[in-house]
Amino acid sequence: MAHEFRKPGFLSFIFLNTLYALVFCFLQTGALCAQQNQANASIPDNFKLDMETAARLRPQLLAASVAPSGPYEIGEVTLQKLTAQVESPKGLSLAWELRIADDDLLNAYSSPDGTIYVDRNLAELAGASPGLWAAILSHEIAHIVRRDWARRYLYQKSLEGSADLLLGEPGAPSGSWTDSRKASEDLASFCRQLELEADREALMLMVHAGYHPDFVPALHHLLHAFGNGATTLSMYAMHPCWETRDRELERSYTAASIEFEHLWPEWYASPGGNPPIVVFADEPKVKKNGFEQWEIKVPMRCQNLAGAVQVVLLSRPLGAQVAASLERPAGVAEARQLTGCTSPTTTITFIVEGADRTKELVVDVFVLDSRGAVLTRAEVPRLHR
Ligand SMILES: [Zn+2]
Repeated sequence: MAHEFRKPGFLSFIFLNTLYALVFCFLQTGALCAQQNQANASIPDNFKLDMETAARLRPQLLAASVAPSGPYEIGEVTLQKLTAQVESPKGLSLAWELRIADDDLLNAYSSPDGTIYVDRNLAELAGASPGLWAAILSHEIAHIVRRDWARRYLYQKSLEGSADLLLGEPGAPSGSWTDSRKASEDLASFCRQLELEADREALMLMVHAGYHPDFVPALHHLLHAFGNGATTLSMYAMHPCWETRDRELERSYTAASIEFEHLWPEWYASPGGNPPIVVFADEPKVKKNGFEQWEIKVPMRCQNLAGAVQVVLLSRPLGAQVAASLERPAGVAEARQLTGCTSPTTTITFIVEGADRTKELVVDVFVLDSRGAVLTRAEVPRLHR
């Protein structure tokens, strides 16, 4: 049966923002170590505000989401397998549930009561892959089990308290501005710390439940390929960039891979099945060969690849869409190369030619699997004449 999605109203938007707030403060990078202790600080036994807030917001969140059906039922199955590995926080009982949210921001968020909301676009991206679902859900499960909403709330309150003391005279504009900026920077790096810790715990949770850790970078690369910088509400858009996140996770990721091989020696028989093809495409190097010719080298490294991948380069003059209706069809030029990507220092080289009077070329490089599904995208700087 097809579900009707209802557009969330303004109130739901406000309520959603309250929950988004947990994952909404990811832009800043900064001193993580200073926040380490607070991130690990325990939550008082009598603190129930997170659960009370979750109960209050639940009707609105439910109204703006549906139960998973059709291909997304695999998401529910995956959630059950993952949550069978975790214990509820002390004194709380969680009711794990997956909902498909009426949004298309490529986003996921969770409520402290154990409900995880994955929006339509992200659900479509995960599709029928239990491993990709596990990569999405395990991160949210980690936030819930760690009670990160409560941690963030308590940390924010502690910042507000110290800001009052520092300000002294109420209404001094410059001091107030400086302190509020400092507080928001502190909060941003505190949240970043929470995100990294959730990522690390999520990796081990996946491994214990039988989902290969390679599904995490595979998901990151898909989000990078399909994510659009304009989606300001997306938790994923808030990350500085996926390459950075992959690097920050590297040590935990190696440890998780070793543990997976130990626990699940027959990969194909694990709940997530064989690990996915993962392509790490580094930033392409651009060299100008002549007046309107550039050489673009794409360094890449592949994991779990048995056959070949296609590297596709798309180029178009900046503003081609506008010129198209006047003179010629929008000129998107395409070049493709196949590679077995067997060397850890595989480099694919393209020669790109500019058309007459091209001032600037916009270039995208995608890596596709043998069936044409996108695996990753590499960012190429604009080419100037
Ligand atoms: Zn998160």
